Amino acid sequence: MDVFPLMQEGGVENLYFCQDRPSGLKAVIAIHNTALGPALGGTRFWNYSREEEVIRDAVRLARGMSYKSSVAGLNLGGGKGVIWGDPQNDKSQTLFNVYGRFIERLGGTYITAEDVGTTPQDMDWIAQETRWVLGTSSKGGDPSPYTARGVYQGIKAALEFVDGTPELKDKCIAIQGTGSVGSHLCRMLAREGAQLILCDLDDKACGLLCEETGASQVSPETIHAQECDVFAPCALGGVINENTIQELRCRIIAGGANNILASERHGDMLEEMGIVYVPDYVSNAGGVIFVAEQLHGLDRDRVAAKVDEIRQTCYNILSKAQSENIPTYRAADAIAEERMNKNREL
Ligand code: NAD
Repeated sequence: MDVFPLMQEGGVENLYFCQDRPSGLKAVIAIHNTALGPALGGTRFWNYSREEEVIRDAVRLARGMSYKSSVAGLNLGGGKGVIWGDPQNDKSQTLFNVYGRFIERLGGTYITAEDVGTTPQDMDWIAQETRWVLGTSSKGGDPSPYTARGVYQGIKAALEFVDGTPELKDKCIAIQGTGSVGSHLCRMLAREGAQLILCDLDDKACGLLCEETGASQVSPETIHAQECDVFAPCALGGVINENTIQELRCRIIAGGANNILASERHGDMLEEMGIVYVPDYVSNAGGVIFVAEQLHGLDRDRVAAKVDEIRQTCYNILSKAQSENIPTYRAADAIAEERMNKNREL
């Protein structure tokens, strides 16, 4: 694999490789764009099968963070750390200490936090070596309630755009994945009288949530094909793909998962099908807004107010897409790039 073409393609400024034989650490840190500020993005711990996947994921995720922070109006760039290993068996305090020392050497151009496969405990170990870490057990904790709040606002914006009212009562919403984000979202929507259809690989936990909220449960294989107003993917990326797209029976897609579209082509197809897609990195920015606030001392009311602005941001993106006759993901990218480019010129 050639690294420079990959960096150019992903638009990353820097790619750092870290290894430490005694602790077993193998990590890549990608810094995508620092035009708006230091690169913020979590550290993922994942058991990739090949080295190329580690690098590609770091680049792709770092880029996503730049766009997410830019559209959310944060003065932050995008970066991502990826540690290659099995999160069940390969973690240790030493490994995270060594990783923390690498981050310290970057002098604050990269600020890390939790991501898939890492926990506040892991951040505590990183914090023993560097101050460039957020999401430790003493600072803030779980961002998912704020992520869910942003997705809720994204759903309301889309309903208002399509129906002329953000009213949730009796709207049918299918949620894929009832983990941290999905379960918070479900409770918020249920409180306003939405009819919910849920699924999760964890049948039992999902069943309990259905009992609590009056939702109905379907199998994970059929959730995307439910007839509903809104399909909210809150599990994995790549959910809108070659196999699922023709089976969709929703009017709106707005969810918490990252990279909901398998490729940009699927965003173009949704546009042709008349399904309104709220770009994922816009509606799921509540988590990064919460984490970023920890840089200035956490004020939860200020975070909530900033997360609620996601509604207007989503509405503006949907309007821009309509007036310029472009898919919504392109409208969001254009807004993100404009802000980054303006700051770079300055
Ligand atoms: P989580 O692990 O708590 O929940 C994910 C849930 O999805 C789990 O319950 C899992 O069983 C379920 N799941 C996995 N595959 C599934 C499938 N095929 N069908 C149905 N259910 C399935 O994770 P989370 O923190 O809730 O994050 C959910 C998504 O949101 C992820 O894509 C994550 O990257 C994204 N995200 C999360 C945050 C956050 O603050 N936690 C912020 C931004 C984006």
